[in-house]
Amino acid sequence: SPTPSHSHWQPGLGALGEAFVTFLNPVPLTRPHWIAHSPAAADYLGLDEAWLAQEDALKLFSGNALPEGARPWASVYSGHQFGVWAGQLGDGRALTLGTLPAADGTLQEIQLKGSGLTPYSRMGDGRAVLRSSIREFIASEAMQALGIPTTRALCLTGSRDPVYREQVETAAVVTRFAPSFIRFGHFEHFASRQQDIPLRTLADYVIGQHYPHCRQAPNPYAALLRAVAEGTADLIAQWQAIGFCHGVMNTDNMSMLALTIDYGPYQFLDAYDPGHICNHSDERGRYAYDRQPDVAYWNLYALGQALLPLIGEVDDAKAAVDVYPTRLAESQAACWAAKLGLQDSTAASELMQPLLMQLSVNQADFTLFWRRLSLAVAEGRSSFDGVRDLLMRRDALDSWFTDYLRALDEHGLPDTGAAMLRANPAVVPRNYLCQNAIAAAEKGDFSEVRNLLEACTTPYDTRWDTHAYAGLPPDWASGICVSCSS
Ligand code: AMP
Ligand code: MG
Ligand code: MG
Repeated sequence: SPTPSHSHWQPGLGALGEAFVTFLNPVPLTRPHWIAHSPAAADYLGLDEAWLAQEDALKLFSGNALPEGARPWASVYSGHQFGVWAGQLGDGRALTLGTLPAADGTLQEIQLKGSGLTPYSRMGDGRAVLRSSIREFIASEAMQALGIPTTRALCLTGSRDPVYREQVETAAVVTRFAPSFIRFGHFEHFASRQQDIPLRTLADYVIGQHYPHCRQAPNPYAALLRAVAEGTADLIAQWQAIGFCHGVMNTDNMSMLALTIDYGPYQFLDAYDPGHICNHSDERGRYAYDRQPDVAYWNLYALGQALLPLIGEVDDAKAAVDVYPTRLAESQAACWAAKLGLQDSTAASELMQPLLMQLSVNQADFTLFWRRLSLAVAEGRSSFDGVRDLLMRRDALDSWFTDYLRALDEHGLPDTGAAMLRANPAVVPRNYLCQNAIAAAEKGDFSEVRNLLEACTTPYDTRWDTHAYAGLPPDWASGICVSCSS
């Protein structure tokens, strides 16, 4: 059906009741307007594009009207922020309307972000500004198109209602969706209060809904922890391989489904700088690009600690979490192999250490390096000049190219060039591309949001290789300042 009828809106996590969520309605925006929607997301949710263009949909996704039968809720969670216990947090500016069935039969929780005050807003205003909402909208759908597990975004609405940050900005609402937005912090919340019964209820819910195979394990809660550790390892490997910096890997921003969640001051690397810090608020670089793998491990220990009352033995919890380093290494090697067009992870790993060193020393653009390498292989391996052009010292990789060509001969994937062009995108939502879309949107022109979305959701398409979206970032790109302010 073109419109989500009331029988569709099931409560999701809200079914667990008021120990876990608070039921409340969104706060309307003044004269909301459309900014953009994701055609792929609409299709996945079975929502008709014609319906999405209508006033009813605009009201629904700006929080100005409720779907029949829906009972929106905000959930409570806690967490560690920048390594320090922060106590109670929660959905301070997000409301889940309920779930809708998607094309693949899964139930997706539909959530408005920026929909007004909740009992968990603390010092905040419950709103999200246009700037950060555009960034979240585009990145969510870009990650999906890149094949990286993520919460998704259906649409973006705005209003001229003022929102006060460092400057006066305007309000927006991102409609996000995911099978669940449940975070490590949900478990930390009940564990920190020694509330073992809701802790168990929550774990049983997550197992029942999202990890049913864990129920058969000798220790289902240890099995859950292990499954999350494995999923997180796979996710982080993919972040590192695409050059994604999350920026705020607090435990309340870590998904129990190992999805990328909470796009704030994230960044896709321009030049390859392993120590890059994308979040201006992260003074000590806790969440620098090359620290992400260790931070995720630290966060898994926080989750293990929270699940300990259910797991029982410390050794069982440790054993579950400690699958992470090996799994990460394997997953990382597999990601690099795919990017290099190789079937053999060991051969790929051997090539990576010297490669990353040279990319760093030569400040090579990370996305373009991989794309141009793919193009060079696809075009017959005869010239790596496009890649050389990205290096400060053009000959820095010459001996590496020799080793690489030998590895391709011995271990190359079938139809290597085409495979590499499907593994290395031409376009990612770099800060400066988002910034251009934001600047136009702040003047009322949303066409660049839509254009950038189209490119970021077809990131491997060779039509972009000649487009400015796939070019080197301009000099001003490195001066863009992105912080927790959103
Ligand atoms: P974040 O740093 O985005 O992960 O947010 C941390 C916590 O602050 C979460 O509980 C958010 O819901 C809450 N929060 C962030 N911004 C706002 C806001 N403008 N109003 C209310 N709560 C907020
Ligand atoms: Mg958050
Ligand atoms: Mg956030």
